[in-house]
Amino acid sequence: MEDSLPQPIQCNECPAGVMQPRMITYFTWLGNDLITVPYFPAWICDMCGKRHYDEKAVSWLNMLLDPNAGKPTPHRRRTTPPTRPQASSPRPSTDS
Ligand SMILES: [Zn+2]
Repeated sequence: MEDSLPQPIQCNECPAGVMQPRMITYFTWLGNDLITVPYFPAWICDMCGKRHYDEKAVSWLNMLLDPNAGKPTPHRRRTTPPTRPQASSPRPSTDS
């Protein structure tokens, strides 16, 4: 019936282990940012502790985190304004 629920799977790292479905917090790096994903589906072996992440969830996450995946190249906006302040820019002046 409940085939949408993950089922325990045989561990492939140890002969007797069974990997139980768990919801864990997944950590990954996006550039210099540490991304944490709570309630990430994974299987964890009750014998050796090996983790196996849900492949669909991993690919979904990679798609979310990859800024170039699945969407056309956005317009490259000028994100570097001129660094030199213009002479007409208002600045506090208390030289009186
Ligand atoms: Zn194991």
